Amino acid sequence: MARVTLQSVCKVYPGDVMAVDRVSLDIADEQFVVLVGPSGCGKSTTLRMVAGLEEISSGTIEIGGRVVNDVAPKDRDIAMVFQNYALYPHMSVYKNMAFSLTLRRRELGLSKADIDRKVRDAAKVLGIEQLLERKPKALSGGQRQRVAVGRAIVRDPKAFLFDEPLSNVDAKMRVEMRSEIKKLHRRLRTTTIYVTHDQEEAMTLGDVIVVMKDGRVQQVGPPLEIFERPVNRFVGDFIGTPPMNFLSGRVVADNGHPAFDEGSSKVTLAGRLADAAKSHSGREMVLGIRPEALSMEPDRAVSGGGRPDALPQMTVRVTLVELLGKEKDVHMATPTHDRLVGRMDSHVQVREGQELKVYVDLRSAHLFEPGVMGRNVSLTASGETARAN
Ligand code: ADP
Repeated sequence: MARVTLQSVCKVYPGDVMAVDRVSLDIADEQFVVLVGPSGCGKSTTLRMVAGLEEISSGTIEIGGRVVNDVAPKDRDIAMVFQNYALYPHMSVYKNMAFSLTLRRRELGLSKADIDRKVRDAAKVLGIEQLLERKPKALSGGQRQRVAVGRAIVRDPKAFLFDEPLSNVDAKMRVEMRSEIKKLHRRLRTTTIYVTHDQEEAMTLGDVIVVMKDGRVQQVGPPLEIFERPVNRFVGDFIGTPPMNFLSGRVVADNGHPAFDEGSSKVTLAGRLADAAKSHSGREMVLGIRPEALSMEPDRAVSGGGRPDALPQMTVRVTLVELLGKEKDVHMATPTHDRLVGRMDSHVQVREGQELKVYVDLRSAHLFEPGVMGRNVSLTASGETARAN
């Protein structure tokens, strides 16, 4: 097991495509790190550079304290699990798992008995001992996935690299396999780097999440921190479902209180949002509100930092109600913003076409500078430091 570090790693593909732009990461021993971001943001390229499958254009990669820039993939002591597991169809599960070790038996100084023990141990960890004689075609998707992981485990690598391993499986299986991967990591504690475009997968799996866009790291942190304290609008938008609501407008004073004028309603601000508003008074800004933070109940707005005499609220018209089960998504519009979503308890009484007041729980609201990459100014205003590079 090992620490993995990347120092200012770049990848420029022919034609000046800057796929990875000065990525620096410090992945602690035993950590499970998820690289997440939209398609094309450079996460696979980053992973493949760690694996040695892609040369790096500049920077340094270390695995277990050794610089591996010029070390061949097979000598990096890492194991990669891909999206298509690429099991050998004509070989049994046992042989698939033993293959890489058999191939390098002499070089690794392993006896046949050593290999047998490693395969059986890995099969036990994964609960696939009874499948060892089967061929891949006689396995379910989930079982194949386990065999692919088993092939990685037998090599007892310093780190596991997963490249979208679940993107080919159906939604239900994905959730099951996700928890299996997590449990496996709890048991083996091998340093893991996992790539996905799925923010929910990232949130559930990662000890630490690395959000990327356009080849750059936007934010690094534990899932909850990224969710609660996005450093910019992109991260606020990308992490969380339904995504954060963004209202463009202006920071104003309303009866002497800092407020956000979204064009038709003035949302009174308090706490760290009011602090941030003070230094951005009169400016065009963007108010970000998590769907969970919109409610029909004034009490949440109060406990969220609003003052009883001037609650953060907006007048909206309900455009659509989507029942999800325990909760429902209430789509709303103001005269100036037509796409607001509130996630509310199913029992909340609302009907399409209704005009009403929604209250904002300011704990889950943020003030951003304009633009899709607008910086979150309401984190630093309360003395907290935003982390981004
Ligand atoms: P992700 O895994 O986040 O979807 P990739 O790392 O695969 O992103 O790609 C990052 C960027 O590099 C994209 O713009 C992609 O088009 C480009 N890219 C990836 N592989 C190559 C390649 N072999 N040659 C040229 N450009 C590439």
